[in-house]
Amino acid sequence: MPEYDYDLFTIGAGSGGVRASRVSAAHGAKVAVAEEYRVGGTCVIRGCVPKKMLVYGAHFAEDLQDARNFGWTVENARFDWIALRDHVLNDVTRIEGLYTQTLENTGVEIIQQRARVTGPNEVTLADGTVVTARHILIATGARPHVPDCPGHEHGITSNEAFHLDALPRRVLIAGGGYIANEFAGIFNELGSKVTIINRSDTILRGYDESIRDRLLQISLTKGIAFCFNADFRGIEKQADGSLLVSMTNHDPMEVDAVLFATGRVPNTEGLGLAEVGVELGKRGEVVVDRFGKTAIDSIHAVGDVTDRVQLTPVAIREGQALADTLFGNKPTAASHDCVPAAVFSHPPMAGVGMTEADARNKLGGVKVYLSDFRPMKNVLAGRNERALYKMICDSNSGKIVGIHMIGPDAPEIMQAAAVAVKAGLTKDDFDATIAIHPTMAEELVLMR
Ligand code: NDP
Repeated sequence: MPEYDYDLFTIGAGSGGVRASRVSAAHGAKVAVAEEYRVGGTCVIRGCVPKKMLVYGAHFAEDLQDARNFGWTVENARFDWIALRDHVLNDVTRIEGLYTQTLENTGVEIIQQRARVTGPNEVTLADGTVVTARHILIATGARPHVPDCPGHEHGITSNEAFHLDALPRRVLIAGGGYIANEFAGIFNELGSKVTIINRSDTILRGYDESIRDRLLQISLTKGIAFCFNADFRGIEKQADGSLLVSMTNHDPMEVDAVLFATGRVPNTEGLGLAEVGVELGKRGEVVVDRFGKTAIDSIHAVGDVTDRVQLTPVAIREGQALADTLFGNKPTAASHDCVPAAVFSHPPMAGVGMTEADARNKLGGVKVYLSDFRPMKNVLAGRNERALYKMICDSNSGKIVGIHMIGPDAPEIMQAAAVAVKAGLTKDDFDATIAIHPTMAEELVLMR
C-alpha cells in the first residue's frame, strides 16, 4: 500500500497549477488537481486570453479609420458587441478543453470540487472526501480587490466585463494599473465614454515614467478622461439604472457602469492554511522560499497566490520549477529577475529590466538612449501618434539594464529584446547588429 493517495495534490487548475501538475505527472508522480470553477484559471478564462481577443477586436476601430489613406473605402462599418463577446467566450471554452485534455493525457486526475487543506499531508474535498498526498500545492491565484465603499455592489470587475450584455455608453474605471488601462483602451475604441479614476496621480506605477507619460498623453488625445487623487465615496443606483459615483476631489459623475481594477488579492480564504501552520503575509499571500516551499515542508505554492510577480508566464515558470524540484531530481528556483511585461493598451507598452529612475538610484552612472518617432504606418494614415523607445545602460559596464517602449507591436518586439537584456548584452552588441529596414524594431539598433 502506498503511504499516500497521491504524490502531489494541486489546488487550483490555473496556469501555475496546470504546469506543475502535468510536469510532475510526466516525471512519474501520481497527481490530482482540484478546481472549483473552470480549468485554465484567470489567464485563460477571464484574463490575458479573452482580454487580448477584445484588444484585437477593439483595434479594428482605428484600423478602419486608418484604412482610408491606404486607399480603402469601408462603407457601413458597424460593430456588434454580442458577436465579439460570444466568439471570444466560445474560444475560451475551446482552450479550456485543450487544457483539460493536456492534463488528462498526462494522467492527472481532475477533481471538480473545492478543496481545503486539513493537515500537512491531507486535503478535504467539498463533498467530505478526505485524501492524502506527499506534497500539496496551493495554486489558487488571486481575485479582484473591490474597494469597500457604499454601493460597491453596483460595480463590476474584469471577471464580469467579458460577459456584458451591452457596451456601457459611459464607463468609469477605478484604478490606474494594467487592467484599468487595458479596458479603458478596449471600451474607448468600441465607442464608450471612458473615465479612469485613480487614488494617486500615477498610472502604471513600476513602468518607466517617460513611457507612462506617453500613454497618458495619447489616451487623453483619444478621448479617455482621467481623474487623479480620487478616492471612491460611494455609488448610488438611480431610477433610470445609471450610477451616480461620488469621489474625493472631483464632482460626482453619472455613468452606466463602474469597473473596479484596483489590484488583485491572493485567494487564501477558507483554505485552512493558517490552521495547519502555513505562514500568510499581510495581504493573505502564501509566504514561500525560493523553491516555492511554505513554512510546512510538504506544502508549496506558486503563482498569484504568493503575490510576488502576478504574471501568467511567471506562474508557469514557478510551476515548472516546483515539478522539477519535487519529482525531476533537479532542484530549481524560478528566477524573478529581469521579467519582461507588457500592457495591452492602445498603443501597447512593454518593458524589461530597470526603469530610468531605478537605474539612477541603484547604479553609479547611467546612459540613456531614446528614439521618439512616428511609425511609417501612422504617418501615412495621418495618425499623429508617436512611439517612444528607451534603452538604459550602466555607464561603467556598458550593459543594457533596461529597455522600455510604447508603440504598435511593442510587446511583440520586446520579447526578443528581453532575451538580450537577460543575457547581459551591451549597447555595442545592439549597434553591431544590422537593422531590418523598414521596421519599427530597427530603432533598437539605431539609437543614438
Ligand atoms: P495593478 O496593480 O496593475 O494596479 C492597481 C491600481 O489600483 C493602481 O493604480 C493602484 O493605485 C490602485 N489601487 C490599488 N489598491 C487600491 C485600493 N485599495 N483602492 C483604490 N485604488 C487602489 O492592478 P490591476 O488590478 O490592474 O491588475 C492586477 C495584476 O494583474 C497586475 O498587477 C498584473 O500583475 C496582472 N495583470 C497583468 C496584465 C498583463 O500582463 N498585461 C494584464 C492585467 C493584469 P496606485 O498605483 O496609485 O497605488
